[in-house]
Amino acid sequence: MDAIRDAILAGAPGEELAALPLPESYRAAFVRKEDAGMFEGLSTREKDPRRSIRVDRVPVPDLAPDECYVAVMASAINFNTVWTSIFEPLPTFGFLERLGRENVWGARHDLPYHVMGSDASGVVLRAGSAVRNWKPGDHVVVHCNYVDDQDPSAHDDSMLAANQRIWGFETNFGGLADLSVVKANQLLAKPAHLSWEEAACNALCNSTSYRMIVSKNGADMKQGDVVLIWGATGGLGGYAVQYVLNGGGIPVGVVSSASKAKLLEALGCEAVIDRAAKNYRFWSDEHTQDESEWRRFGKDIRALVGEDPDIVFEHPGRQTMGASVFVAKRGGTVVTCAATSGYMVEYDNRHLWMKLKQIKASHFANYREAYDANRLISLGRIQPILSVVYPLEETGEAAAQVHQNLHEGKIGVLCLAPGEGLGVTDPEGRERVGEDRITAFRRLEA
Ligand code: NAP
Repeated sequence: MDAIRDAILAGAPGEELAALPLPESYRAAFVRKEDAGMFEGLSTREKDPRRSIRVDRVPVPDLAPDECYVAVMASAINFNTVWTSIFEPLPTFGFLERLGRENVWGARHDLPYHVMGSDASGVVLRAGSAVRNWKPGDHVVVHCNYVDDQDPSAHDDSMLAANQRIWGFETNFGGLADLSVVKANQLLAKPAHLSWEEAACNALCNSTSYRMIVSKNGADMKQGDVVLIWGATGGLGGYAVQYVLNGGGIPVGVVSSASKAKLLEALGCEAVIDRAAKNYRFWSDEHTQDESEWRRFGKDIRALVGEDPDIVFEHPGRQTMGASVFVAKRGGTVVTCAATSGYMVEYDNRHLWMKLKQIKASHFANYREAYDANRLISLGRIQPILSVVYPLEETGEAAAQVHQNLHEGKIGVLCLAPGEGLGVTDPEGRERVGEDRITAFRRLEA
C-alpha cells in the first residue's frame, strides 16, 4: 500500500491511482474467532480490548460489482469497536456467518477474523462495474448503513430493510485498516475543509444523532424544545448538543466531570449537570430503583431551564432509562439508540402512559439522513468532535480508552495517513469555519 499512499499524498489523478496494482494483503485491526472465549468469567469492565485486538496483514477480498475499494487514510473508534473487541453481548462472528449464508458475495465475509471499524475517510481506488456515481481518485467518507438495495424492504427508510447491517460490525472488511471494501451507497463526499482524521470521525455518530434529533424518523425536534442529552461530550452527545443548538432547541447536557462540564459550556450549552458531582443513585441496589432520586434529577433540570424535557436523548440504557422516562415532559419523547450500561431496561410504565410519553427507537441513519448530516459538516454548520488520534497499531489502546470512558468526543485512528493535519483541500473554507470551532475538542486535550 506504500505506493498507493505516496501517490495519494502527491495528489495523483484518479487514472494514475486506478492503474496502480493492488497488493495481495493489507494491514488491518481485527479480532480472531479463536479468541472469542478469552474473557470468560471476567466482568465487562475487566475485558480488555488491548488483549483481543490484533494488527496484522490480511488478504485483499474480491470486489462485488456494486462495491469500491477505498484506500483508508483515517478511521475512528466507535463503541461498536468496543463491543466487537470484548465479544459482548455476543461475538460478532455470528453476524458474519449469517451474512456468509446469504449469497456468494456475502460468503466472503465469513472468515476466522473480523476486520472492525465503522468509520473511514479515504480515496476510492477501484469502482465495481455497477458503480455509477464514484470513481478512482474521489475523496470520500464512508457511512456504515450496509443495505442490499435490491430488496423491496430497503426502499421506505433503508433502516427498516430486512437485510440492514452495520458495516465493520455486522460485516467484515471495516474501516480500521489501510484498505476497505464498501458498497457504493455508503459513500459521501469528504468535507474538503477537514483533515483525514477530522473527516473520518463523524459519519457514524453524527448521522445517528441527526436521525435521533432532527429527522422525522427520530424526535423531530422543533425550536424551543428542551432536550436532555446524556453523555453530552461523548461520541453521540457531542453532535447532539450541536444539533439542538443549531435547531433553536435548549440543550441540557449531562456529563461526569468538571472538565467535561467546562467543555460543554464552551460549546454554548448553558444548562449543564455534572452527574458525578450530583452523585445520583437511580438504583438503590441491583434490582431496585429509587424514585426519589429520579425526582431529585428532575428538580435539577427544572432549576436550570424552568421545565421538563420535551426530548430525552437516551443511550446509557439500564442505569438511566427509569430516570429518562420519569423526567420527560407530559407528551414528551425518549429517543433511544443504545444501552451501554445494560439492555434489560426498567422504567415505571405509569409515568409513560398516564403522561402520554413515548419511547422512540432509533438506529444509525438511512443514506439520505447520513447525506444531510454530512452536508452540514461540509457547510461548517456541525463540527467534528475529534479529541485525540492514535496510529492503527494502537487500535487496542484507543478502544480501551473508550471502553473505560476516559475520552471526550471521538478518538481518531491514522491508517494510511502518515501524520495529522493532511488532506485539507479547501483551506479557505477551513478559515471561514474557523480553526477554533473545528478543533474545540482537541484544545481541551491540550
Ligand atoms: P461514548 O463516546 O462512550 O459516549 C457515551 C457517553 O455516555 C459517555 O461519554 C458518558 O458520559 C455517558 N455514559 C456512559 N455510561 C453512562 C451511564 N451509566 N450513565 C450515564 N451516562 C453514561 O459512546 P457513544 O459513541 O456516544 O455511544 C454511546 C452508546 O450508543 C454506545 O452503547 C454505542 O454502542 C451506542 N451507539 C448506537 C448507535 C446506533 O446507531 N444505534 C450509534 C452510535 C452509538 P459522561 O461520563 O460524561 O456522563
